[in-house]
Amino acid sequence: MLLYKEFILIADNGERFTLRIPYVCKQCGNCCTEFPPSILAGTKQEIADYLFISVEQLEYKYLSKKARRESPCPFFVKHRGCSIYPYRPEGCVLYPLETFGGTCGTDCAGDKRFQELIGILTKGYKIFEAKTRKLVAQGNPNWACDRPTNRGLGDYRDPPDDEIERLRKRYLDSKPFSREKNFFLMINPTFVE
Ligand code: SF4
Ligand code: SF4
Repeated sequence: MLLYKEFILIADNGERFTLRIPYVCKQCGNCCTEFPPSILAGTKQEIADYLFISVEQLEYKYLSKKARRESPCPFFVKHRGCSIYPYRPEGCVLYPLETFGGTCGTDCAGDKRFQELIGILTKGYKIFEAKTRKLVAQGNPNWACDRPTNRGLGDYRDPPDDEIERLRKRYLDSKPFSREKNFFLMINPTFVE
Protein backbone atom coordinates (compact mmCIF):
# COMPACT_ATOMS: atom_id res chain seq x y z
CA MET A 1 0.00 0.00 0.00
CA LEU A 2 1.38 3.36 -1.02
CA LEU A 3 0.13 6.75 0.09
CA TYR A 4 0.14 10.04 -1.69
CA LYS A 5 -1.61 13.36 -1.55
CA GLU A 6 -3.32 14.54 -4.70
CA PHE A 7 -3.37 18.28 -5.29
CA ILE A 8 -5.30 20.21 -7.88
CA LEU A 9 -3.14 23.28 -8.50
CA ILE A 10 -4.02 26.43 -10.40
CA ALA A 11 -1.46 27.81 -12.84
CA ASP A 12 -0.96 31.52 -13.55
CA ASN A 13 -3.26 31.28 -16.58
CA GLY A 14 -6.03 29.81 -14.43
CA GLU A 15 -5.63 26.27 -15.74
CA ARG A 16 -6.14 23.52 -13.15
CA PHE A 17 -3.90 20.47 -13.13
CA THR A 18 -3.03 17.47 -10.97
CA LEU A 19 0.12 17.03 -8.96
CA ARG A 20 0.56 13.97 -6.75
CA ILE A 21 3.06 14.10 -3.92
CA PRO A 22 4.29 10.73 -2.60
CA TYR A 23 4.56 9.84 1.05
CA VAL A 24 7.36 7.36 1.69
CA CYS A 25 7.68 5.87 5.16
CA LYS A 26 11.31 5.46 6.23
CA GLN A 27 10.33 2.51 8.44
CA CYS A 28 12.28 3.89 11.40
CA GLY A 29 9.62 2.65 13.84
CA ASN A 30 9.48 5.91 15.80
CA CYS A 31 5.68 5.90 15.57
CA CYS A 32 5.41 2.27 16.77
CA THR A 33 5.30 3.22 20.42
CA GLU A 34 2.10 1.32 21.08
CA PHE A 35 -0.26 -1.06 19.34
CA PRO A 36 -3.00 1.04 17.75
CA PRO A 37 -6.52 0.04 18.73
CA SER A 38 -7.73 -0.71 15.23
CA ILE A 39 -8.51 -3.86 13.34
CA LEU A 40 -5.66 -5.85 11.85
CA ALA A 41 -5.67 -6.25 8.07
CA GLY A 42 -6.00 -10.02 8.24
CA THR A 43 -7.45 -12.86 10.27
CA LYS A 44 -5.68 -14.17 13.35
CA GLN A 45 -4.85 -17.33 11.42
CA GLU A 46 -3.27 -15.37 8.54
CA ILE A 47 -1.16 -13.30 10.92
CA ALA A 48 -0.13 -16.33 12.98
CA ASP A 49 0.90 -18.12 9.77
CA TYR A 50 2.86 -15.04 8.69
CA LEU A 51 4.75 -15.09 12.00
CA PHE A 52 5.13 -18.91 11.96
CA ILE A 53 3.36 -19.26 15.30
CA SER A 54 0.02 -20.68 16.47
CA VAL A 55 -3.11 -18.57 16.98
CA GLU A 56 -2.83 -19.27 20.72
CA GLN A 57 0.73 -17.90 20.76
CA LEU A 58 -0.40 -14.86 18.76
CA GLU A 59 -3.17 -14.13 21.24
CA TYR A 60 -0.92 -14.57 24.27
CA LYS A 61 2.24 -12.85 23.05
CA TYR A 62 0.79 -10.03 20.93
CA LEU A 63 -2.92 -9.49 21.47
CA SER A 64 -3.45 -9.89 25.21
CA LYS A 65 -4.28 -6.78 27.22
CA LYS A 66 -0.85 -6.96 28.85
CA ALA A 67 0.99 -7.20 25.51
CA ARG A 68 -1.00 -4.31 24.04
CA ARG A 69 -0.08 -2.10 26.97
CA GLU A 70 3.64 -2.57 26.33
CA SER A 71 5.77 -0.04 24.53
CA PRO A 72 6.93 -0.24 21.83
CA CYS A 73 4.17 -2.12 20.04
CA PRO A 74 4.65 -5.90 20.47
CA PHE A 75 4.90 -6.34 16.70
CA PHE A 76 7.82 -3.94 16.43
CA VAL A 77 11.26 -5.56 16.00
CA LYS A 78 14.34 -3.43 16.55
CA HIS A 79 16.33 -2.81 13.34
CA ARG A 80 13.64 -4.60 11.28
CA GLY A 81 10.53 -2.55 11.93
CA CYS A 82 7.01 -3.95 11.81
CA SER A 83 6.95 -7.76 11.85
CA ILE A 84 3.43 -7.88 10.37
CA TYR A 85 3.86 -5.12 7.78
CA PRO A 86 1.33 -6.48 5.21
CA TYR A 87 -1.19 -7.03 8.02
CA ARG A 88 -0.65 -3.88 10.05
CA PRO A 89 -3.78 -1.98 11.14
CA GLU A 90 -5.36 0.73 9.01
CA GLY A 91 -4.22 3.38 11.51
CA CYS A 92 -0.59 2.36 10.86
CA VAL A 93 -1.13 2.30 7.09
CA LEU A 94 -2.53 5.83 7.01
CA TYR A 95 -0.14 7.33 9.56
CA PRO A 96 0.67 10.21 9.55
CA LEU A 97 -1.39 11.47 6.61
CA GLU A 98 -4.76 10.75 8.14
CA THR A 99 -3.84 11.07 11.80
CA PHE A 100 -5.67 13.66 13.81
CA GLY A 101 -2.94 15.97 15.09
CA GLY A 102 -0.39 15.07 12.41
CA THR A 103 2.54 13.10 13.78
CA CYS A 104 1.48 13.83 17.38
CA GLY A 105 5.02 14.90 18.21
CA THR A 106 6.68 11.78 16.76
CA ASP A 107 9.99 12.34 15.04
CA CYS A 108 8.81 11.12 11.62
CA ALA A 109 11.46 11.31 8.90
CA GLY A 110 8.91 10.38 6.23
CA ASP A 111 6.66 13.28 7.19
CA LYS A 112 9.57 15.74 7.25
CA ARG A 113 10.42 14.89 3.65
CA PHE A 114 6.73 14.92 2.69
CA GLN A 115 6.17 18.40 4.16
CA GLU A 116 9.38 19.60 2.49
CA LEU A 117 8.16 18.33 -0.88
CA ILE A 118 4.75 19.95 -0.47
CA GLY A 119 6.48 23.26 0.29
CA ILE A 120 8.83 23.00 -2.69
CA LEU A 121 6.34 21.76 -5.28
CA THR A 122 3.27 23.83 -4.46
CA LYS A 123 5.13 27.11 -3.85
CA GLY A 124 3.58 29.93 -5.85
CA TYR A 125 0.50 27.92 -6.91
CA LYS A 126 -3.01 28.27 -5.60
CA ILE A 127 -4.22 24.95 -4.22
CA PHE A 128 -7.73 24.14 -5.37
CA GLU A 129 -8.04 20.78 -3.63
CA ALA A 130 -5.92 18.24 -1.70
CA LYS A 131 -6.93 14.65 -0.96
CA THR A 132 -5.11 11.69 0.57
CA ARG A 133 -5.18 8.65 -1.69
CA LYS A 134 -4.09 5.06 -1.31
CA LEU A 135 -2.53 3.02 -4.07
CA VAL A 136 -2.56 -0.73 -3.75
CA ALA A 137 0.63 -1.64 -5.56
CA GLN A 138 1.06 -5.19 -6.71
CA GLY A 139 4.64 -6.29 -6.34
CA ASN A 140 7.57 -4.30 -5.18
CA PRO A 141 7.17 -0.49 -5.10
CA ASN A 142 10.91 -0.25 -5.76
CA TRP A 143 10.42 -1.44 -9.33
CA ALA A 144 11.89 0.76 -12.03
CA CYS A 145 9.06 2.83 -13.40
CA ASP A 146 9.74 2.85 -17.12
CA ARG A 147 6.16 2.19 -18.21
CA PRO A 148 3.96 4.25 -15.87
CA THR A 149 0.25 4.09 -16.19
CA ASN A 150 -2.56 6.18 -14.86
CA ARG A 151 -4.89 3.19 -14.67
CA GLY A 152 -6.65 2.87 -11.33
CA LEU A 153 -5.40 6.20 -10.03
CA GLY A 154 -8.56 8.19 -10.72
CA ASP A 155 -8.94 11.36 -12.73
CA TYR A 156 -5.75 13.02 -13.79
CA ARG A 157 -5.58 16.52 -15.27
CA ASP A 158 -2.44 16.80 -17.36
CA PRO A 159 -0.23 19.72 -16.33
CA PRO A 160 0.65 22.20 -19.12
CA ASP A 161 4.11 21.55 -20.65
CA ASP A 162 5.75 24.60 -19.06
CA GLU A 163 4.45 23.60 -15.61
CA ILE A 164 5.82 20.08 -16.11
CA GLU A 165 9.25 21.52 -16.90
CA ARG A 166 9.17 23.87 -13.91
CA LEU A 167 8.00 21.19 -11.48
CA ARG A 168 10.31 18.51 -12.85
CA LYS A 169 13.29 20.82 -12.23
CA ARG A 170 12.08 21.65 -8.73
CA TYR A 171 11.61 17.98 -7.96
CA LEU A 172 15.03 16.90 -9.22
CA ASP A 173 16.69 19.82 -7.40
CA SER A 174 15.16 18.51 -4.16
CA LYS A 175 17.50 15.47 -4.43
CA PRO A 176 14.90 12.67 -4.34
CA PHE A 177 16.04 9.18 -3.36
CA SER A 178 15.41 6.43 -5.89
CA ARG A 179 12.45 4.73 -4.17
CA GLU A 180 10.61 8.03 -3.81
CA LYS A 181 11.44 9.03 -7.38
CA ASN A 182 10.08 5.75 -8.77
CA PHE A 183 6.87 6.29 -6.83
CA PHE A 184 6.66 9.94 -7.94
CA LEU A 185 6.91 8.93 -11.61
CA MET A 186 4.42 6.11 -11.14
CA ILE A 187 1.74 8.51 -9.85
CA ASN A 188 2.66 11.46 -12.10
CA PRO A 189 2.99 9.73 -15.48
CA THR A 190 3.31 12.95 -17.49
CA PHE A 191 6.61 13.71 -15.74
CA VAL A 192 8.42 10.77 -17.32
CA GLU A 193 10.85 12.05 -19.96
S1 SF4 B 1 1.43 -2.92 14.05
FE1 SF4 B 1 3.42 -2.60 13.04
S2 SF4 B 1 3.29 -0.56 12.10
FE2 SF4 B 1 1.65 -0.70 13.64
S3 SF4 B 1 2.51 0.15 15.56
FE3 SF4 B 1 2.86 -2.08 15.59
S4 SF4 B 1 4.90 -2.40 14.72
FE4 SF4 B 1 4.23 -0.32 14.16
S1 SF4 C 1 7.82 7.64 12.27
FE1 SF4 C 1 7.28 8.10 10.13
S2 SF4 C 1 8.98 7.34 8.90
FE2 SF4 C 1 9.14 6.38 10.93
S3 SF4 C 1 8.00 4.41 10.73
FE3 SF4 C 1 6.56 5.95 11.51
S4 SF4 C 1 5.53 6.74 9.64
FE4 SF4 C 1 7.43 5.73 8.98
